[in-house]
This record gives sequence, C-alpha cells and structure tokens, in this order.
Amino acid sequence: MNVLVLNSGSSTLKFQLVRTDAERMRENTDLKLARGEFERIGGEAVYSFRAGDRPAVRGTVAARDHRAALDFLITWMAGPDSGVDLDTVGSIEAVGHRVAHGGERFRASVRIDDEVQRGIEDFIDLAPLHNPSNLKGIAAARSVLGAGVPQVAVFDTAFHQTLPERAHLYAIPYQLYRRHRVRRYGFHGTSYRYVSWRYRQLTGRTREQTRIIALHLGNGCSACAIDGGNSVDTSMGFTPLEGLVMGTRSGDLDPAILDYVANKEGLALNEVERLLNTQSGLLGVSGLTNDMRELLAEAEEHDDRRAKLAIELFAYRVRKYVGAYLAAMGGADAIVFTGGIGENAAPVRARILDRLDWLGIALDAEKNGRTTHGVEGRVDAAASRVEVWVIPTDEELLIARDTVRVISGLETRY
Ligand code: ADP
Repeated sequence: MNVLVLNSGSSTLKFQLVRTDAERMRENTDLKLARGEFERIGGEAVYSFRAGDRPAVRGTVAARDHRAALDFLITWMAGPDSGVDLDTVGSIEAVGHRVAHGGERFRASVRIDDEVQRGIEDFIDLAPLHNPSNLKGIAAARSVLGAGVPQVAVFDTAFHQTLPERAHLYAIPYQLYRRHRVRRYGFHGTSYRYVSWRYRQLTGRTREQTRIIALHLGNGCSACAIDGGNSVDTSMGFTPLEGLVMGTRSGDLDPAILDYVANKEGLALNEVERLLNTQSGLLGVSGLTNDMRELLAEAEEHDDRRAKLAIELFAYRVRKYVGAYLAAMGGADAIVFTGGIGENAAPVRARILDRLDWLGIALDAEKNGRTTHGVEGRVDAAASRVEVWVIPTDEELLIARDTVRVISGLETRY
C-alpha cells in the first residue's frame, strides 16, 4: 500500500511517500519512495523533493494554501520525470497525518471521519498553533485525492495517555483539571513509540522488558520514561513549553516569572509566553542562535562564553531529568538518544551523561565519537550497567505503518 505521510505546519508541509503492508512490516522491508517539504506556503512557496536516493529537486511555486501545494506535489510525483515509483496519482492509497494534540480522547491512531475532525477541532484550544495546521493538511488531502482515499490521524500525545495520575496531574486545584483538562499531555509520542520499538528490535527484548529513558533532542526537546513499553512520565506538559531547555523554548521555570516580566517589560501575558516559546532556550541564553551545531562551533572556535553556557545549561537540564526518571522507574536498562541533537551531537551526549558513572551509566568516548549522523549504535562503555543507544527517529515510518494497520483493522499497539 502506498501511504502519503503528511506533517502540516502553518506555512509548511512535510511529506513522505512510503510503501508498506503487513508483510513488509513483518520483514522490515518498507520502502521510502519519496520525501520532501514546502516552506512559505501562502505566497511563493519554496519546495525540495527527493525521490528515493536521487538528488533533491528544488524550486518555487505560487501556492496560496496547503491544497495548492499538495496539488503541485501530487502532479510532480505522478509525472514522468519525478523518479517516484508510482503509476498514477490514483496509486496513493492512503494518507497518514501527524496530528499534534488528541487530548484525552484519542489514545491511539484513528481513521479520520467528520467526528474525528471535530475532535481535532475541539483541541485547538490546547494546541492553537498546531491543530489548525493539521486540519488544513487533512482538508487539502481530501480535496486533492478525493473522499475515497482513507486518511488516518496519528497523535503526538497518544503514547503518553498511559501516564499515571501522579505523573500527569499538576498540583493545582483539582477542579482546573476537571473543568478545563489542565494536565500534562506530553508530546513527541510518535518518536518515542518508534525508538522504543526499534530498541526492542535491536536488543531482542520484549515490550515488558522495555524500561528505558528516551531523550528526543531536536529543536523541540523532551525526555520520556518508558516502563513495560508504556510512557510513565515525560517532560513536556500541558504544552511543549515545559521540561528541557530547547532551541527557543525555556523549558521549566517558575510561573511567577510571567507576571513579573509582564509588569517590568510592559508586556501582556501572552507576549511573555511567546517570549518563552520563541526567544528563550539556547537562543535566549547564547544571544546567538537556536542551532546546536552553530553553538558547538562558536564554543569551539571562538571560546564564546555564552555559547558554552547555553550548551552547559542544556546538558545539565537533561542530566537532571535522567536522574529524575531513574528515580521514577527505580532504574533503567537503557538510555536512548534521538532527534537532531541526540543523533548527531556526540559532545552534547557526553556532557549529558557526564558524572553519572556512580549510577552505572558510562559512555565509551571512542564509540560515542564514532557514532555520527543518523547511524544507529550502542555507545556505552563495557563497565556501564545501563546501555546507551543512539537510535535515529523515524516518525514517518511509524505513521505509515499505523495508517495501514488502522485501515486494515490490524491492532496498533502503543
Ligand atoms: P526538529 O525538532 O525541528 O525536527 P531536528 O530533530 O532536526 O529538529 O534537530 C535540530 C537540531 O539538531 C538543531 O539544533 C541542530 O543544530 C541539531 N543538529 C543537527 N545536526 C547536528 C550536528 N551534526 N551536530 C550538532 N547538532 C546538530
């Protein structure tokens, strides 16, 4: 089955075309036929597409909305020069969407119908930036491919619906949870599901034996404690703002800062919140960039004090969460790094796990340095009691597989 996986942002559209079915899943022979993205949808959109291992095709196209972008993409895919192994537009058999927020209602992936769309709309309050964009992607796919092509929603929050109350409730008046569903939801769920599944494949362990701390460190960053295969705690909360230091987000802070800064700076509360989401984190501390690669270069080449400080703060916060989750689960069998930073930045991994040997966690410096750029590998030292893995995430693959499972009525295990 050819599944188009879509991840729609407010002015972006990322896609992958994946061929998969029950047999390919069993044999691990899913095929990535094409992938790419649009940016700046709404005007002259910039696109970059790639069929299989071919070089990327780049260009611009006037795309008023997601529908126009998708229309252009589908025409390209089915065209004779694209190199995509697809007979006709009609051979896209299903669409899988990454959807940010499924609240407490969506605990697993579902086939999209009017009621599910209304459900996603209901959670716009909780994800005002993301859910509306996801809905745009759903509407675009329906309009371009027709209502006959089934669509499936895969929620970033669903994996964390197993969090026990003690982990997902905030210690605020309980009515605020009852009335407004103020609680920790957690995000990056699809990524965590992927790496924990892949960890089981690499190690031969069962779901029940999966007791790991997974660290998704990209532009957005979070940590997740996975016990018996289930998420039991995670660092992002009611919104993705809580938890680790991120590219532009502050992560954990004292909520009294909001009102204080609002008064001192003459800002409205929502402006302070925006500041915490878009001007903080690595960018805010360094005053330079939200990009870890650039910060590492600045620290190395110019010995920049604030670049070094930002990296140190980042690593320190992750380390504290590792300690917290070891305590929460009473230990762990492995730590798994993923996301752009987790997969690629060996020096950051080393800083995060620095001085944890007392807890039985020790990196092998040589293996850690050697494992670079999207490569799976084990990087702990022989003496380490806890395994340390680097597992590049593949959310698109999981979305494609879920899509096939949901449509074929197969079980989607979380
Ligand atoms: P997103 O969360 O948007 O998917 P990614 O997972 O691609 O983002 O992560 C982006 C982050 O990964 C950036 O901070 C980037 O600098 C960092 N990164 C990517 N490659 C490297 C590298 N080789 N060394 C250090 N950091 C890297």
